[in-house]
Amino acid sequence: MKVVFINPYELGRQSFAIASPLASLQAQGFAVESIDLALQRLVPNKLQDAAVIAIHLGMHTATRIAVAAFPRIRQLAPNARICVYGWYAAANAKLFFELGAMAVFSGEVEDALRLFVCRVRDGDLKLEQDYRQPLISTGAIEWQVPERSQMPALDRYANLVLADGSCRTVGFIETTRGCKHLCRHCPVVPVYQGRFRAVPKAIVLADIRQQVAAGAQHISFGDPDFLNGPGHAIRILDAMHTEFPDLTFDATIKVSHLLEQQTLLPRLRNWGCLFITSAVESTDNVVLEKLQKGHCSKDFEVVVHLTRASNIALSPTFIPFTPWTTLSGYCTLLETIVRLQLIDSVPSIQLAIRLLVPAGSWLLKDVDMLPFCNDFDPQLLGYPWRHPQPAVDTLQRQIQAVVEEGDRNNLGRRQVFEQIWVLAHQAIGEYVSLPEITSCQATPHLSEPWYCCAEPTSQQLQQF
Ligand code: SF4
Repeated sequence: MKVVFINPYELGRQSFAIASPLASLQAQGFAVESIDLALQRLVPNKLQDAAVIAIHLGMHTATRIAVAAFPRIRQLAPNARICVYGWYAAANAKLFFELGAMAVFSGEVEDALRLFVCRVRDGDLKLEQDYRQPLISTGAIEWQVPERSQMPALDRYANLVLADGSCRTVGFIETTRGCKHLCRHCPVVPVYQGRFRAVPKAIVLADIRQQVAAGAQHISFGDPDFLNGPGHAIRILDAMHTEFPDLTFDATIKVSHLLEQQTLLPRLRNWGCLFITSAVESTDNVVLEKLQKGHCSKDFEVVVHLTRASNIALSPTFIPFTPWTTLSGYCTLLETIVRLQLIDSVPSIQLAIRLLVPAGSWLLKDVDMLPFCNDFDPQLLGYPWRHPQPAVDTLQRQIQAVVEEGDRNNLGRRQVFEQIWVLAHQAIGEYVSLPEITSCQATPHLSEPWYCCAEPTSQQLQQF
C-alpha cells in the first residue's frame, strides 16, 4: 500500500517533518514517496495509486498553498484518504475537513499517522467516525532515522551564502520540537502549549551523518528554539564537531536565551556557528510586552554586542507592523538597525511583515487584540486587522510594494532599505537623511529569503 507525503513549502529546506514520519511508515512496510511542491509538481503517476496522502502544514504559506492545491490533489488521487498534519493543521481543521481531508494531526504526529495508515490498510470501518476531530499529541513517540534518500538532492534546496559570495550545501536538522515559551503570536504555542520534545541524540547524529554523506557542508538547525534544552544542544554540537570538525552551522535562538547562555557563545563559535537567527520582532517595548516575548529592546542591543564579540553574525527577524506600531516607532526600528550596523543582516521582507493572526492564535485570547480584528477570512486563513491609524497601514502597503519591486529587480538589501527609510520618514513628516554607512558587512545567510509568516506570492499559489 502506497503513502505519498506532500510538502507545500518549507523555506527551502529538505523537510525533517516529511522525512521523519516517512521513515516511520517505511519501517512498518509501507511504500512511501514524497513531493516537495517548492521543487516538484503534482504528477499523476506519483499520486494515482496512493492509498493515503499526508500533507504537511508547517507554516502559514504552506497552508495557503495546500488549500489552493487540494482540488488538484483530490482530482489526481480520487480514491486516496487525505490527511493533513503540522502546526497549522489543528487550527485549520474545519476548513480541511470541508475540503475533504479525513484526518488532522498536530504535534508529535509519527505514531498517530502510522496508526491511521494501518487502519486504512486494514479497512477499519470505524475510521471516519474516529477521526472527526483533530488529534493533537505532544507525548513521547517511537523514532526512526529520517528517510531522505528519495527527496530532491540537498543542493537543490536553499544554500548558505558566505560573506565573500561563495556557497555551501546545507543540511536541515531538528533536535527538538515545540517550545517552552508562550509568545502570543507564535503558531507553536497553540499546539505545544509551553512544552517541547527532544529528538534523541542518536537519531539527530545519524541524520547529520546521512546529510553530510549527501553533500551537506553546513547544518541549519530548524528547532523553534535551539536552546530550549541547552544540555541537549551542547551534547549534540560536541559530538557533531568531534566527528565533523569542518562542518559549520546556524540555529534559531531567542534573545532571552542568548542572554542567559551568553557564556556559551564562544563555544558555539568554536563548534562552527556562523550565524544565529533571533526573533527580535520589535524595538518597541510596548509591542514586545503585548507579544509576551520575554525581552526588551535593550536586551536586543546587548545580544548584538555579545554575538559580535563572539564573531557570530546575528540575523534578527521582525514583525514591524502590529496594531500597536506607531509611525515614529517604525522609524526608531530603522534607526536602531542603522546604529547597530545591521542593514545587511536584515532581509528586506522583514521590514514589511505584518502581524499574522491565524485560526487558533493565542493573540485572540487577548482583549487588547480583539478590537482590531475582523471576522476570520477563509481566503487569507486568518483574521485581518486594521491599525487604528490608517497611515500605518498605508506605510505597510507602500513598504511591501517596495520590497516586492526590489525582489523583482534584484536590488540589494541596502538599496531597498534606503527607499524604506525615505517612505517611513515622509510618513512622519520629517526628512532625516540616512547616515553614511561605512562599516556594514555582508553576513552569512541562507539563500531563501522568504519568511514563515509572509503571505505566499501568486507564483507560489500556482506552481503545483
Ligand atoms: S520563543 Fe520562539 S518558538 Fe518559542 S513561543 Fe516564542 S516565538 Fe514561538
